Amino acid sequence: MKYRTLGKTGEKVSILGFGAMRLPHFETNDQIDVKTSDEILSYGIDNGINIIDTAYSYHANNLSGKGKCEEYIGNFLNEHSYRDEVLLTAKMPSWLIETKEDMEKIFESQMKDLQTDCIDLYMLHSLNEDYWKMYREIGAFEFMDSLLESGKVKHIGFSAHTEMDWIVDIVDDYDKFEFGLTQLNYLDERYQSGREGVEYIHKMGLGTMIMEPLRGGRLIQNIPQDIMDLWDTAEEKRTPLEWAFQYLWNMEEVDTVLSGMNSIQQVKENIEIANKSEINSISKNDLNLIKEVAWEYKQRKGNDCTGCQYCMPCPHGVDVAGCFREYNIAKMLNNPAGSAMHYFSLESDTRADKCIHCDDCLYHCPQMIHISEDLKKVDEFFGRKYDYF
Ligand code: SF4
Ligand code: SF4
Repeated sequence: MKYRTLGKTGEKVSILGFGAMRLPHFETNDQIDVKTSDEILSYGIDNGINIIDTAYSYHANNLSGKGKCEEYIGNFLNEHSYRDEVLLTAKMPSWLIETKEDMEKIFESQMKDLQTDCIDLYMLHSLNEDYWKMYREIGAFEFMDSLLESGKVKHIGFSAHTEMDWIVDIVDDYDKFEFGLTQLNYLDERYQSGREGVEYIHKMGLGTMIMEPLRGGRLIQNIPQDIMDLWDTAEEKRTPLEWAFQYLWNMEEVDTVLSGMNSIQQVKENIEIANKSEINSISKNDLNLIKEVAWEYKQRKGNDCTGCQYCMPCPHGVDVAGCFREYNIAKMLNNPAGSAMHYFSLESDTRADKCIHCDDCLYHCPQMIHISEDLKKVDEFFGRKYDYF
Protein backbone atom coordinates (compact mmCIF):
# COMPACT_ATOMS: atom_id res chain seq x y z
CA MET A 1 0.00 0.00 0.00
CA LYS A 2 1.15 3.54 -0.65
CA TYR A 3 0.64 6.37 1.82
CA ARG A 4 0.46 10.14 1.62
CA THR A 5 0.33 12.77 4.34
CA LEU A 6 -3.17 14.05 5.02
CA GLY A 7 -2.36 17.76 4.93
CA LYS A 8 -2.20 19.62 8.24
CA THR A 9 -3.29 16.57 10.19
CA GLY A 10 0.19 15.12 9.62
CA GLU A 11 -1.40 11.66 9.58
CA LYS A 12 0.06 9.06 7.23
CA VAL A 13 -2.96 7.84 5.30
CA SER A 14 -3.32 4.99 2.80
CA ILE A 15 -4.13 6.36 -0.66
CA LEU A 16 -7.08 3.93 -0.75
CA GLY A 17 -9.59 4.35 2.06
CA PHE A 18 -12.46 2.08 3.02
CA GLY A 19 -15.82 3.79 2.53
CA ALA A 20 -18.32 1.93 4.73
CA MET A 21 -21.49 3.12 3.02
CA ARG A 22 -21.91 0.13 0.71
CA LEU A 23 -21.10 -2.87 2.86
CA PRO A 24 -22.74 -6.15 1.87
CA HIS A 25 -26.19 -6.44 3.39
CA PHE A 26 -29.19 -8.72 3.41
CA GLU A 27 -32.66 -7.72 2.24
CA THR A 28 -32.65 -4.15 3.50
CA ASN A 29 -29.83 -1.63 3.70
CA ASP A 30 -29.77 -1.70 7.51
CA GLN A 31 -29.23 -5.49 7.66
CA ILE A 32 -25.44 -5.53 7.28
CA ASP A 33 -23.98 -8.93 6.41
CA VAL A 34 -21.59 -8.95 9.37
CA LYS A 35 -19.62 -12.07 8.44
CA THR A 36 -18.83 -10.98 4.87
CA SER A 37 -18.23 -7.37 5.89
CA ASP A 38 -15.80 -8.52 8.60
CA GLU A 39 -13.86 -10.55 6.02
CA ILE A 40 -13.68 -7.70 3.53
CA LEU A 41 -12.60 -5.10 6.08
CA SER A 42 -10.05 -7.43 7.66
CA TYR A 43 -8.54 -8.16 4.27
CA GLY A 44 -8.29 -4.44 3.53
CA ILE A 45 -6.66 -3.55 6.84
CA ASP A 46 -4.29 -6.53 6.72
CA ASN A 47 -3.19 -5.29 3.31
CA GLY A 48 -2.46 -1.73 4.33
CA ILE A 49 -5.71 0.26 4.27
CA ASN A 50 -5.59 2.45 7.36
CA ILE A 51 -8.67 4.66 7.07
CA ILE A 52 -12.32 3.65 7.51
CA ASP A 53 -14.95 6.19 6.59
CA THR A 54 -18.27 5.98 8.44
CA ALA A 55 -21.23 8.32 8.89
CA TYR A 56 -24.33 8.54 11.06
CA SER A 57 -26.56 7.97 8.03
CA TYR A 58 -24.74 5.09 6.33
CA HIS A 59 -26.74 1.87 6.13
CA ALA A 60 -30.02 3.50 7.04
CA ASN A 61 -33.27 2.41 5.52
CA ASN A 62 -34.32 5.88 4.52
CA LEU A 63 -32.43 8.85 3.17
CA SER A 64 -32.31 10.96 6.34
CA GLY A 65 -32.31 8.59 9.30
CA LYS A 66 -29.72 6.98 11.53
CA GLY A 67 -27.98 4.02 9.96
CA LYS A 68 -26.32 0.88 11.29
CA CYS A 69 -22.84 1.54 9.93
CA GLU A 70 -21.28 3.17 12.99
CA GLU A 71 -22.56 0.52 15.35
CA TYR A 72 -21.27 -2.22 13.07
CA ILE A 73 -17.84 -0.59 12.63
CA GLY A 74 -17.54 -0.05 16.40
CA ASN A 75 -18.19 -3.76 16.99
CA PHE A 76 -15.89 -4.83 14.20
CA LEU A 77 -12.91 -2.74 15.36
CA ASN A 78 -13.23 -3.89 18.94
CA GLU A 79 -13.92 -7.55 18.34
CA HIS A 80 -11.01 -7.85 15.90
CA SER A 81 -8.68 -5.52 17.84
CA TYR A 82 -8.14 -3.26 14.84
CA ARG A 83 -8.96 0.07 16.48
CA ASP A 84 -5.33 1.19 16.83
CA GLU A 85 -4.50 0.25 13.25
CA VAL A 86 -6.92 2.60 11.54
CA LEU A 87 -7.87 6.22 11.33
CA LEU A 88 -11.57 6.26 12.07
CA THR A 89 -13.81 8.91 10.52
CA ALA A 90 -17.36 9.88 11.43
CA LYS A 91 -19.67 12.69 10.33
CA MET A 92 -22.22 15.02 11.88
CA PRO A 93 -25.49 14.66 9.87
CA SER A 94 -25.99 18.34 8.99
CA TRP A 95 -29.59 17.83 7.80
CA LEU A 96 -30.65 16.74 11.31
CA ILE A 97 -29.11 19.71 13.11
CA GLU A 98 -30.96 22.80 14.32
CA THR A 99 -29.13 23.62 17.55
CA LYS A 100 -25.77 23.12 19.21
CA GLU A 101 -27.52 20.70 21.60
CA ASP A 102 -28.50 18.53 18.60
CA MET A 103 -24.81 18.35 17.71
CA GLU A 104 -23.86 17.34 21.25
CA LYS A 105 -26.52 14.66 21.44
CA ILE A 106 -25.70 13.09 18.09
CA PHE A 107 -21.95 13.23 18.70
CA GLU A 108 -22.27 11.40 22.03
CA SER A 109 -24.40 8.68 20.41
CA GLN A 110 -21.74 8.27 17.71
CA MET A 111 -18.95 7.83 20.29
CA LYS A 112 -21.05 5.17 21.97
CA ASP A 113 -21.84 3.32 18.73
CA LEU A 114 -18.24 3.50 17.56
CA GLN A 115 -17.06 2.31 21.01
CA THR A 116 -14.20 4.77 21.09
CA ASP A 117 -13.12 7.67 23.28
CA CYS A 118 -11.52 9.53 20.37
CA ILE A 119 -12.62 9.85 16.76
CA ASP A 120 -9.55 10.49 14.61
CA LEU A 121 -11.15 12.41 11.78
CA TYR A 122 -14.51 14.04 12.44
CA MET A 123 -16.45 15.89 9.73
CA LEU A 124 -19.44 18.11 9.31
CA HIS A 125 -21.30 16.07 6.71
CA SER A 126 -22.36 17.25 3.29
CA LEU A 127 -21.80 20.99 3.73
CA ASN A 128 -23.46 23.38 1.35
CA GLU A 129 -24.46 27.04 1.60
CA ASP A 130 -27.52 26.44 3.82
CA TYR A 131 -25.85 24.06 6.25
CA TRP A 132 -22.78 26.26 6.56
CA LYS A 133 -24.88 29.33 7.36
CA MET A 134 -26.85 27.28 9.89
CA TYR A 135 -23.66 26.01 11.59
CA ARG A 136 -22.32 29.55 11.85
CA GLU A 137 -25.56 30.73 13.45
CA ILE A 138 -25.89 27.98 16.07
CA GLY A 139 -22.34 28.28 17.37
CA ALA A 140 -20.92 25.13 15.81
CA PHE A 141 -17.39 26.57 15.94
CA GLU A 142 -17.46 26.57 19.75
CA PHE A 143 -18.72 23.01 19.73
CA MET A 144 -15.94 21.89 17.39
CA ASP A 145 -13.37 23.75 19.51
CA SER A 146 -14.62 21.86 22.56
CA LEU A 147 -14.29 18.48 20.78
CA LEU A 148 -10.66 19.25 19.98
CA GLU A 149 -9.87 20.60 23.46
CA SER A 150 -11.44 17.61 25.21
CA GLY A 151 -9.55 15.17 22.97
CA LYS A 152 -12.76 13.50 21.82
CA VAL A 153 -11.74 14.36 18.28
CA LYS A 154 -8.20 14.42 16.97
CA HIS A 155 -8.78 16.34 13.73
CA ILE A 156 -11.78 18.28 12.44
CA GLY A 157 -12.74 18.47 8.78
CA PHE A 158 -15.75 18.62 6.50
CA SER A 159 -17.35 16.87 3.60
CA ALA A 160 -19.03 19.08 1.03
CA HIS A 161 -21.36 18.93 -1.92
CA THR A 162 -21.23 22.53 -2.97
CA GLU A 163 -19.86 25.06 -5.39
CA MET A 164 -16.37 26.51 -5.32
CA ASP A 165 -17.32 29.81 -3.63
CA TRP A 166 -18.62 27.94 -0.60
CA ILE A 167 -15.54 25.72 -0.41
CA VAL A 168 -13.48 28.91 -0.12
CA ASP A 169 -15.79 30.29 2.59
CA ILE A 170 -15.82 27.05 4.57
CA VAL A 171 -12.03 26.63 4.46
CA ASP A 172 -11.43 30.29 5.31
CA ASP A 173 -14.09 30.68 8.03
CA TYR A 174 -12.89 28.07 10.49
CA ASP A 175 -9.14 27.86 10.79
CA LYS A 176 -9.12 24.56 12.70
CA PHE A 177 -10.32 22.53 9.73
CA GLU A 178 -7.48 20.20 8.79
CA PHE A 179 -8.98 18.21 5.90
CA GLY A 180 -11.85 18.22 3.43
CA LEU A 181 -13.74 15.47 1.60
CA THR A 182 -15.19 16.32 -1.81
CA GLN A 183 -16.40 14.53 -4.91
CA LEU A 184 -14.05 14.05 -7.84
CA ASN A 185 -13.68 11.65 -10.75
CA TYR A 186 -12.83 12.21 -14.40
CA LEU A 187 -16.45 13.00 -15.30
CA ASP A 188 -16.83 15.49 -12.45
CA GLU A 189 -13.90 17.82 -12.96
CA ARG A 190 -16.37 20.70 -13.03
CA TYR A 191 -19.25 19.23 -11.02
CA GLN A 192 -19.79 21.05 -7.70
CA SER A 193 -16.35 22.28 -6.57
CA GLY A 194 -14.70 19.58 -8.72
CA ARG A 195 -11.00 19.64 -9.34
CA GLU A 196 -10.64 23.32 -8.47
CA GLY A 197 -12.02 22.59 -5.00
CA VAL A 198 -9.50 19.82 -4.35
CA GLU A 199 -6.68 22.06 -5.54
CA TYR A 200 -7.82 24.88 -3.26
CA ILE A 201 -8.19 22.66 -0.19
CA HIS A 202 -4.70 21.29 -0.84
CA LYS A 203 -3.24 24.76 -1.47
CA MET A 204 -4.57 25.91 1.91
CA GLY A 205 -2.65 23.08 3.56
CA LEU A 206 -5.63 20.87 4.38
CA GLY A 207 -5.67 17.14 3.67
CA THR A 208 -7.79 16.07 0.72
CA MET A 209 -10.09 13.07 0.67
CA ILE A 210 -11.98 12.10 -2.45
CA MET A 211 -15.42 10.50 -2.59
CA GLU A 212 -17.21 8.94 -5.57
CA PRO A 213 -14.05 7.94 -7.47
CA LEU A 214 -16.17 5.56 -9.58
CA ARG A 215 -19.38 7.58 -9.35
CA GLY A 216 -20.99 4.91 -7.22
CA GLY A 217 -19.52 2.17 -9.45
CA ARG A 218 -21.13 3.60 -12.54
CA LEU A 219 -17.83 4.38 -14.32
CA ILE A 220 -17.15 0.67 -14.51
CA GLN A 221 -20.65 -0.66 -15.20
CA ASN A 222 -22.59 -0.85 -18.49
CA ILE A 223 -19.68 0.68 -20.38
CA PRO A 224 -20.72 1.32 -24.00
CA GLN A 225 -18.59 -0.34 -26.68
CA ASP A 226 -17.48 2.95 -28.25
CA ILE A 227 -16.07 4.05 -24.90
CA MET A 228 -14.24 0.75 -24.53
CA ASP A 229 -12.88 1.29 -28.06
CA LEU A 230 -11.57 4.68 -26.97
CA TRP A 231 -9.83 3.22 -23.93
CA ASP A 232 -8.19 0.69 -26.27
CA THR A 233 -6.37 3.55 -28.02
CA ALA A 234 -4.47 4.53 -24.83
CA GLU A 235 -0.68 4.57 -24.89
CA GLU A 236 -0.61 2.61 -21.64
CA LYS A 237 -3.27 -0.08 -21.43
CA ARG A 238 -5.42 0.06 -18.32
CA THR A 239 -8.86 -1.23 -17.39
CA PRO A 240 -11.66 1.33 -16.85
CA LEU A 241 -11.25 0.70 -13.12
CA GLU A 242 -7.55 1.50 -13.31
CA TRP A 243 -8.23 4.65 -15.32
CA ALA A 244 -10.73 5.90 -12.76
CA PHE A 245 -8.36 5.46 -9.82
CA GLN A 246 -5.16 6.41 -11.56
CA TYR A 247 -6.77 9.64 -12.80
CA LEU A 248 -7.02 10.61 -9.10
CA TRP A 249 -3.77 9.19 -7.77
CA ASN A 250 -1.93 10.88 -10.63
CA MET A 251 -2.62 14.20 -8.84
CA GLU A 252 -0.28 15.24 -6.08
CA GLU A 253 -3.17 17.21 -4.54
CA VAL A 254 -5.07 14.01 -3.74
CA ASP A 255 -4.20 12.41 -0.40
CA THR A 256 -6.69 9.55 -0.11
CA VAL A 257 -9.51 8.13 -2.21
CA LEU A 258 -12.44 6.58 -0.37
CA SER A 259 -14.05 3.66 -2.13
CA GLY A 260 -17.24 1.90 -1.02
CA MET A 261 -16.03 -1.66 -1.55
CA ASN A 262 -18.35 -4.60 -0.92
CA SER A 263 -16.49 -7.75 -1.94
CA ILE A 264 -13.04 -9.21 -1.33
CA GLN A 265 -12.53 -9.19 -5.09
CA GLN A 266 -13.06 -5.42 -5.23
CA VAL A 267 -10.73 -4.80 -2.32
CA LYS A 268 -8.02 -6.95 -3.92
CA GLU A 269 -8.34 -5.24 -7.30
CA ASN A 270 -8.33 -1.75 -5.80
CA ILE A 271 -5.32 -2.47 -3.60
CA GLU A 272 -3.41 -3.85 -6.59
CA ILE A 273 -4.13 -0.68 -8.55
CA ALA A 274 -3.15 1.49 -5.57
CA ASN A 275 0.13 -0.38 -5.25
CA LYS A 276 0.99 0.33 -8.90
CA SER A 277 -0.07 3.99 -8.88
CA GLU A 278 2.31 6.92 -9.21
CA ILE A 279 1.93 10.69 -9.09
CA ASN A 280 2.25 12.39 -12.51
CA SER A 281 2.63 9.11 -14.37
CA ILE A 282 -0.10 9.48 -17.01
CA SER A 283 1.22 10.67 -20.38
CA LYS A 284 -0.09 13.86 -21.98
CA ASN A 285 -1.84 11.87 -24.71
CA ASP A 286 -3.52 9.61 -22.17
CA LEU A 287 -4.65 12.62 -20.12
CA ASN A 288 -6.28 13.92 -23.30
CA LEU A 289 -7.86 10.52 -23.85
CA ILE A 290 -9.48 10.70 -20.39
CA LYS A 291 -11.01 14.03 -21.41
CA GLU A 292 -12.23 12.46 -24.66
CA VAL A 293 -13.89 9.61 -22.76
CA ALA A 294 -15.58 12.12 -20.44
CA TRP A 295 -16.77 14.08 -23.47
CA GLU A 296 -18.13 10.90 -25.07
CA TYR A 297 -20.09 10.07 -21.90
CA LYS A 298 -21.52 13.57 -21.77
CA GLN A 299 -22.99 13.22 -25.27
CA ARG A 300 -25.44 10.71 -23.80
CA LYS A 301 -27.10 13.08 -21.39
CA GLY A 302 -30.86 13.73 -21.49
CA ASN A 303 -30.83 17.44 -22.38
CA ASP A 304 -28.53 20.44 -22.64
CA CYS A 305 -29.19 21.98 -19.22
CA THR A 306 -26.06 23.78 -18.04
CA GLY A 307 -27.41 24.42 -14.53
CA CYS A 308 -27.37 28.21 -15.10
CA GLN A 309 -30.67 28.59 -13.20
CA TYR A 310 -31.96 31.44 -15.41
CA CYS A 311 -35.30 29.60 -15.29
CA MET A 312 -35.39 29.76 -11.48
CA PRO A 313 -36.93 30.38 -9.07
CA CYS A 314 -39.92 28.51 -10.41
CA PRO A 315 -43.11 30.06 -8.94
CA HIS A 316 -44.15 26.55 -7.94
CA GLY A 317 -40.87 25.69 -6.28
CA VAL A 318 -39.48 23.16 -8.78
CA ASP A 319 -35.70 22.79 -8.62
CA VAL A 320 -35.38 22.62 -12.39
CA ALA A 321 -31.58 22.65 -12.47
CA GLY A 322 -31.35 19.97 -9.75
CA CYS A 323 -33.86 17.68 -11.50
CA PHE A 324 -32.09 17.99 -14.85
CA ARG A 325 -28.68 17.50 -13.26
CA GLU A 326 -29.62 14.10 -11.82
CA TYR A 327 -31.54 13.10 -14.96
CA ASN A 328 -28.57 13.91 -17.15
CA ILE A 329 -26.11 12.03 -15.00
CA ALA A 330 -28.37 8.98 -14.92
CA LYS A 331 -28.83 9.01 -18.71
CA MET A 332 -25.15 9.62 -19.34
CA LEU A 333 -24.11 6.62 -17.28
CA ASN A 334 -27.15 4.52 -18.16
CA ASN A 335 -27.84 3.98 -14.47
CA PRO A 336 -31.06 5.39 -12.95
CA ALA A 337 -30.57 3.64 -9.61
CA GLY A 338 -27.24 5.35 -9.03
CA SER A 339 -28.66 8.84 -9.51
CA ALA A 340 -32.00 8.17 -7.86
CA MET A 341 -30.53 8.62 -4.39
CA HIS A 342 -29.45 12.15 -5.29
CA TYR A 343 -32.73 12.90 -7.07
CA PHE A 344 -34.77 11.80 -4.07
CA SER A 345 -32.49 13.83 -1.79
CA LEU A 346 -34.01 16.93 -3.40
CA GLU A 347 -36.86 18.23 -1.21
CA SER A 348 -40.05 16.40 -2.21
CA ASP A 349 -41.83 19.62 -3.16
CA THR A 350 -39.04 20.59 -5.57
CA ARG A 351 -38.99 17.44 -7.72
CA ALA A 352 -40.18 17.13 -11.32
CA ASP A 353 -43.68 15.92 -10.45
CA LYS A 354 -44.43 19.29 -8.81
CA CYS A 355 -44.23 21.08 -12.19
CA ILE A 356 -47.76 22.22 -13.11
CA HIS A 357 -46.76 22.86 -16.75
CA CYS A 358 -47.64 26.56 -16.65
CA ASP A 359 -44.69 27.26 -18.99
CA ASP A 360 -43.85 30.54 -17.23
CA CYS A 361 -40.20 29.50 -17.46
CA LEU A 362 -40.21 28.54 -21.13
CA TYR A 363 -38.51 31.56 -22.67
CA HIS A 364 -35.96 31.98 -19.89
CA CYS A 365 -33.82 29.06 -20.96
CA PRO A 366 -30.81 30.05 -23.10
CA GLN A 367 -30.50 26.40 -24.17
CA MET A 368 -34.04 26.46 -25.59
CA ILE A 369 -35.05 23.51 -23.45
CA HIS A 370 -38.78 22.90 -23.28
CA ILE A 371 -38.56 22.70 -19.52
CA SER A 372 -42.02 21.41 -18.66
CA GLU A 373 -41.82 18.69 -21.33
CA ASP A 374 -38.42 17.55 -20.11
CA LEU A 375 -39.56 17.60 -16.48
CA LYS A 376 -42.26 15.14 -17.51
CA LYS A 377 -39.49 12.87 -18.79
CA VAL A 378 -37.58 13.25 -15.52
CA ASP A 379 -40.70 12.32 -13.55
CA GLU A 380 -41.27 9.22 -15.70
CA PHE A 381 -37.60 8.29 -15.53
CA PHE A 382 -37.18 8.32 -11.73
CA GLY A 383 -40.76 7.68 -10.63
CA ARG A 384 -42.16 9.15 -7.41
CA LYS A 385 -40.99 6.72 -4.79
CA TYR A 386 -37.47 5.89 -3.72
CA ASP A 387 -37.31 2.11 -3.82
CA TYR A 388 -33.83 1.51 -5.16
CA PHE A 389 -32.24 0.05 -2.01
S1 SF4 B 1 -43.44 24.97 -16.25
FE1 SF4 B 1 -42.99 23.88 -14.39
S2 SF4 B 1 -40.89 24.47 -13.92
FE2 SF4 B 1 -41.64 25.96 -15.37
S3 SF4 B 1 -42.44 27.61 -14.12
FE3 SF4 B 1 -44.16 26.24 -14.53
S4 SF4 B 1 -44.20 24.85 -12.80
FE4 SF4 B 1 -42.19 25.87 -12.78
S1 SF4 C 1 -32.39 27.96 -17.79
FE1 SF4 C 1 -32.23 26.11 -19.01
S2 SF4 C 1 -30.07 25.56 -18.88
FE2 SF4 C 1 -30.45 27.02 -17.23
S3 SF4 C 1 -30.97 25.74 -15.45
FE3 SF4 C 1 -32.91 26.25 -16.45
S4 SF4 C 1 -33.27 24.52 -17.82
FE4 SF4 C 1 -31.12 24.45 -17.25
